[in-house]
Parts: sequence; C-alpha cells; structure tokens
Amino acid sequence: PGVFDANAVKRDFPILEERVHGRRLVWLDNAATTQKPQAVIDRLSYYYEHENSNIHRAAHALAARATDAYEAARDKVRRFMNAPSSKNIIFVRGATEGINLVAQSWGWRNIVAGDEIVITWLEHHANIVPWQQLCSEKGCRLRVAPVNDRGEIILEEYEKLLGPKTRLVSFTQVSNALGSITPAREMVEIAHRYGATVHVDGAQAVSHMPVDVQLLGADFYSFSGHKVFGPTGIGVVYGTTEILEDMPPWQGGGNMIADVTFEKTTYGPPPSRFEAGTGNIADAVGLGAALDYLSGLGLANVQRYEHELLTYAEEKLSRVPGLRIIGTAREKAGVISFILDGQRTEEMGGVLDQEGIAVRSGHHCAQPILRRFGLEATVRASLAPYNTSEDIDALAEALHRIQAGRPVRGL
Ligand code: PMP
Repeated sequence: PGVFDANAVKRDFPILEERVHGRRLVWLDNAATTQKPQAVIDRLSYYYEHENSNIHRAAHALAARATDAYEAARDKVRRFMNAPSSKNIIFVRGATEGINLVAQSWGWRNIVAGDEIVITWLEHHANIVPWQQLCSEKGCRLRVAPVNDRGEIILEEYEKLLGPKTRLVSFTQVSNALGSITPAREMVEIAHRYGATVHVDGAQAVSHMPVDVQLLGADFYSFSGHKVFGPTGIGVVYGTTEILEDMPPWQGGGNMIADVTFEKTTYGPPPSRFEAGTGNIADAVGLGAALDYLSGLGLANVQRYEHELLTYAEEKLSRVPGLRIIGTAREKAGVISFILDGQRTEEMGGVLDQEGIAVRSGHHCAQPILRRFGLEATVRASLAPYNTSEDIDALAEALHRIQAGRPVRGL
C-alpha cells in the first residue's frame, strides 16, 4: 500500500535476508524488538574500531572521541523527542529501568502514605510492578483506569480516579498488547489539572509516531532503544529540568558526583547525577544512529504507511475463518492481537515459525489487559516500516492453512 517504499527500507536491514527453516524470514515481532539497519550496525563497529574509551575522565584523544560521540547521541535523543535541553535526557538500560528510576528517585522522595498513583489497564508489567513495589513500601494506593470493550481508555472513568490524593499518573502512549493509542495529551492535561506529576511510557510509541515531549506536556517520558531500531541495553528517561534538579540520585558511584570525602558526597547535576558508573556508551551511540535513520525515513511517513498496512492486515486477517482480533480501538498503531477458534495460541506461534513467520504468542508482559478480555494469551503480529503487504499475505495464508488443517506449506 501507498508510495512509501517499504522494500527499500527492508534492504537496509541485513537480517531480513536471513532464511529460517528454509524460508524467507517474515519479521512480525517488532513489538518485542525491532531489527537493526546497517547504519546502526556500522556505527557500532566504527565506535569500537575508532573511538572506544571510557568517557569524561581522561585527557587522551579517544576519551574525547567517545565523550563527543556519547554526548552527540544524547543531543540526537533530545532533538528526536523535542526536549528543551540534552540535560533532560538520562541514559538508562531501557524503558523498564527508566520507570524504576522515576519510582525509586522521584517516588521515594515525593510519595507518602495515603497518596495515590494512577495507571491504566493497558500497562505493560514494567509500568505496573515498580508502582506496586513503591505502594507497598510507602503505603500508597495504586488505582487503575479502565478500558472499554475496544481497548480504549474511558476518559471520564480515568478522570474520576483523579483527586487531591493523586500524586503521580503513569500510562502508556501505545499498548504493546493491543496497539491502542491512548489520548495521551488529554490525559496529561487532565492529570496536571489535579496537580499530579505525569510519566508517559513511550516504549511502544516512539517508532510509530512523532513524539514531542513539550507538546505532550509530560513530566517524564521513557523508552527503549531496541524497540526503535537501536541496540538492546540502552534507553532513555526524559524529565523536566525543574523536576530532575530536585531529584536525589538512585544509584551511587563514579560519574555521578561533584565531590567525595568520607564525611560527605555532593552530587553532580542532571543528567550525570542519574548515570552512576560506566554506562552503555557504544549502544547510546548506536541509538543515536538509529534515531537518525528513523528521522531520515520521517516519522510522519512511517506513521501513515503503517496505518495503511495495519488496515490492510486487519482486513486480510479478518477473512480467516474463526479469527478474532482483540483490541479494536479506533486509534491504533502497529499491533494486531488475535486468537483463532480451536487453535492453541502457543502452538500457532510454533507452526508459523516453521513457515519463517515470527510473531509473538503469549501474554506480551501485559497480563491484566488480556485478562480484561478473558484471555491468557493472544498471537500478536506487530509492524515496522520494513514490513510489506507480502508479509501480511504470508501470515494470512498460513493462518488459512492452519484453519484448514494443513499447516505447513508443501516444499
Ligand atoms: N512498556 C511498554 C509499553 C513496552 O512495550 C515495553 C517493552 N515491550 C516496556 C515497557 C519495557 O521495555 P524494556 O523491556 O525494553 O525495558
């Protein structure tokens, strides 16, 4: 569909030429992780061949190169999310660590017994468990905004949960299990009206739509590099200057201090205050290259193309007998979750793999939302700009064969 050249994008990703079980690889597991373009792979090699050093510490040439590359990557992240300053960008391992940082640093300082934290039914476990842990330590209460039968946040119900006790609201911008896009800007605005601080989980959003943290108005925003065509083990948490400056460190060690004596340590300013120890320098640089690559495609183009592909896929899959799509939000991005009458979800994942088609079958680290639909698992096909209508056709044909009782293509 469309004029966007997904086949050209596909050629930028060497792994997509891989064959599995003798078949062309059809990668439809992008919500678990995305593949890496040659530009990112090359940037990692270049770093290790020409720049590798620890950063900020030495007077030698390679330290300067590594430091420059790392800080340039931070600035690429700033530009990518339209943060006011690169000082708002903290490198972490991923969205999970970003959320834990907010819970442990901001949360420990600002949450007291009797306070309330509001999340939604759509959350990934990474945006549930850290708040539960904080609540059980601090004696605060976790409240959960419901969704309707399409998997959309019910804004009136969300607002009803907010009040003078609400200290923090944390919600996902896109559901990784159903694909629902939440009305994030409105939700932030409503939360701020009640005086709450807001964290937005952008892990499933950043590769699918333009993100502007200032437009969104969020106080915190987290995402993972590996879901946006970058390396694993690197991610970002954004925080506003005012809030970060007021936050205590969460880990102590080298790099995060201004001065240390045995009597007293004073801490560095953000973001270094939150980056104790030697960080994942190379992969931060790789993430910078991934964001450059994605910006080169254009997020608005990606968003438009994926929307067309999603519509095509939903249309195609709904013709498979007995297939039910779970999550029919009017605003969706990149994900089709489904079940097939009479077929076991886990087995379907295995049969599709035999055809070279990689999907996820399981609970997608979002058990509550699947249980909201009476399910323990779905099959999830999730899209990226390198997916084509041929990929969708391959999936649909395989599902037709599964339903017809002749699972694997004849050789
Ligand atoms: N939140 C959402 C919405 C996600 O999709 C994911 C990853 N699938 C996470 C958080 C956690 O990200 P990570 O495992 O990379 O830390």
